[in-house]
Amino acid sequence: MKDPQIKKLILAEKKRQKQVVNLIASENYVSNDVLEALGSELTNKYAEGYPGKRYYGGNEITDKIERLAIERALKLFKLKPDEWHVNVQPLSGSPANLAVYTGVVPPGGKIMGMSLDHGGHLTHGHKVSATGKFWSQVPYGIDSVTETLNYDQLLEQAVNEKPAILVAGFTAYPRIIDWAKLREIASAAGALLMVDMSHLSGLVAGGAYPSPFPYADIVTTTTHKTLRGPRSAMIFAKKDSRELDKKIDKAVFPGLQGGPHINQIAAVAVALREADAPAFRRYAAQIVKNVQTLAGELKSRGWRIISGGTDSHLILVDTWMSGLVNEAGAGGVPGKLASELLEKEGIIVNKNAIPFDSRPPADPSGIRLGSAAETTRGAKEKDMKKIAARIDVILKKAPKKH
Ligand SMILES: *Cc1c(COP(=O)(O)O)cnc(C)c1O
Repeated sequence: MKDPQIKKLILAEKKRQKQVVNLIASENYVSNDVLEALGSELTNKYAEGYPGKRYYGGNEITDKIERLAIERALKLFKLKPDEWHVNVQPLSGSPANLAVYTGVVPPGGKIMGMSLDHGGHLTHGHKVSATGKFWSQVPYGIDSVTETLNYDQLLEQAVNEKPAILVAGFTAYPRIIDWAKLREIASAAGALLMVDMSHLSGLVAGGAYPSPFPYADIVTTTTHKTLRGPRSAMIFAKKDSRELDKKIDKAVFPGLQGGPHINQIAAVAVALREADAPAFRRYAAQIVKNVQTLAGELKSRGWRIISGGTDSHLILVDTWMSGLVNEAGAGGVPGKLASELLEKEGIIVNKNAIPFDSRPPADPSGIRLGSAAETTRGAKEKDMKKIAARIDVILKKAPKKH
């Protein structure tokens, strides 16, 4: 690279990534093959349209690349091409969700999505997102006692509200989601069931988390979280007389996007192949073991874990604990301070609201910790024990006056 400033900054970021302990639940480290596809000449090509139906000439190779990505996506999630369709063109997770609603929810229609402070995503109809401006959100939450989904409550709410679409799959919900129950709820309410498995897709691919495909009408996912691919997204749709697949394709292009990023699609194809291997199954299982070790170790040192633990790749830790410091010396640390103190010691996390948070979103009561990135770097249970011990020491040294 001849640009000295950008070159220096890329090297600095590369070094930073090597030096820190990365517990950001939505991040991961891609392979060199994924990087190579991303940084290839494929970025030069315009390929508006879909394979076999492009608006520009010179697309016989890009057609092959996109078709390969589609084939690999269906194979990885064990889907039959006559039952499921996949669109691999969405530029990222948020545009993918926007495309689904654009395609299948009438303007102003109701999106039933989890509220942000309980672990939902902005694009599940939150009012600051376009998805909450063009459609109206029916927000749902989790149970205040169990801190998990209450399916009976959800059923009642859905039947009363009759949303056009029920959205499940969250950014800060550590437990197994009962997809079959959500299917029943969506059907009882006459709603489509959309699962946004952005956080979970690597675990689903690796057999470490239940697949939503037997139950959902539509599945969206980013490709850069547990799936360990480039920043991108995919939309899967059931193929039947409702023509969800065709409506969603039209919403992606020409509805919302122009030319697809073929270099990115090629990189997704590379990641999908990598995920379709025994080593990735072991990786997915290790992610869960690692974060469960982290949860157990923090819990034994007095820290409160939301819902008591985790079945996935992430945990939510209540660092504030209503401002109280318990006998173990844990608590009384607001989320923002917790994440700042940890960063000073090279442990990168994000501050996060906990369900029913009494503190403001900019300085909430907790932090979110995930194990996917460190597991990619080879971390095992013993490493997670060390990380938990470091987190405990750092947070217990925090000033307790606020
Ligand atoms: C990360 C995420 C998104 C958005 O993905 P971007 O690529 O950041 O736009 C959407 N939904 C869920 C559940 C996510 O976790």
